[in-house]
Amino acid sequence: MAIDWRSRVLDEVGAQRPAMVTALADLIRTPSQTGTAAEHEAQAAMASALAADGLEVDHWELPLAELRSDPDFPGTEAPRTEGWGVVGRLPGSGSGSDGGRTLLLDGHIDVVPPGDPATWTHPDPYSGELTATEVRGRGACDMKGGLLAARWAVRALAATGVPLAGDVLLASVEGEEDGGLGTFGLLRRGWTADVCVVPEPTALDLVPACAGALTFRLRIRGRAAHASRRTEGVSAIEKLVPVLAALAALETERNVGADPLLDRWGIAYPLSLGVVRAGDWASTVPDLLEAEGRLGVALDEDPAVAQAALEAAVAEACAADPWLRQHPVEVEWWGGQFASGRLPSESDLGERVAAHHHEVTGAPAATWAGPFGSDLRLLTGLGGIPTVHYGPGDVDLAHAPDEAVPLAEVEVTARVLALLALEVCGPR
Ligand SMILES: [Zn+2]
Repeated sequence: MAIDWRSRVLDEVGAQRPAMVTALADLIRTPSQTGTAAEHEAQAAMASALAADGLEVDHWELPLAELRSDPDFPGTEAPRTEGWGVVGRLPGSGSGSDGGRTLLLDGHIDVVPPGDPATWTHPDPYSGELTATEVRGRGACDMKGGLLAARWAVRALAATGVPLAGDVLLASVEGEEDGGLGTFGLLRRGWTADVCVVPEPTALDLVPACAGALTFRLRIRGRAAHASRRTEGVSAIEKLVPVLAALAALETERNVGADPLLDRWGIAYPLSLGVVRAGDWASTVPDLLEAEGRLGVALDEDPAVAQAALEAAVAEACAADPWLRQHPVEVEWWGGQFASGRLPSESDLGERVAAHHHEVTGAPAATWAGPFGSDLRLLTGLGGIPTVHYGPGDVDLAHAPDEAVPLAEVEVTARVLALLALEVCGPR
């Protein structure tokens, strides 16, 4: 009688729950902020864990100089002198007529800083505190819950010894939060697949597309003077005001007729300033202001077109101001440059994931597009790999205080990914 591998694998997922919940809490306790030593420590621990799970592991140092000089390099923001890639491979037989397809599960291990710890209910943002229903801490939903769910699925497949035709690959990447260095390095290393799931927090919805985000810097010049004679100077802070108004108008204009996949968000393509620095003395009229922000890129929009739109809006604001006409605001594009990305319409990956979700949960999966930039655009664009997001946790908790992920959603993700792997890669 044929072996029912689906039941065996799902039983194994259930059996591994205690170990995987503990592993998730441990993973959160390593404060793997983008560009820090802890990021590399977490990668090394992941490499060891995947080897112990029974996978063939590729753990390599990213050739940073080579990657940075690549014309397609996606940019970084955090200072970085080192980076590491990890891929665990559960090999399929891969040869002959049953040479199966390859599934890639790609999750980032880096997290953003916790912000002011006083805004967290628990004094330690990296507590990895477990309750009956969730695990808490920075990175819980973005996206250690998803990364762990992927490991859980592959580990269960490995434990059952199911004979696969194609490879299942689990990639743990660094440097996603500031541009996508890790996934870029993974693709340049030569890793590829037929389909990919990135288990970013979608609350178990299906996300087949993501808008983009481009990081920019504005430099506004004024003229210094003693504050007691301020009218002799020109305040760079005051000159930000008309520029802000122009950016707000641009945001409104760029959101007219946004793709309906983004209807659930108040603003599909936000334009926002995150950093403003000006002046060096309270009693001096400031002669320089630097502002850094992010510009949303529409689905299917060329990032160069989005850049040109922002530059034109800033130039128009300058033209209307006598000082700025003589001292135009400089616009610089730096750091993370996330194009938008979309699952190709001819791929059935979305339907496949949705079908397994329905089977596991008994409910249909909602479908929407993310307003955030993600590795999806590198995988679909540069890698040519049809990719969707599907994973545990609420994206509203990502980058926010009291980040947490529901354990039930982590387990559902593990089950759905395991079933998808069986469908895509085997069994023979
Ligand atoms: Zn993320």
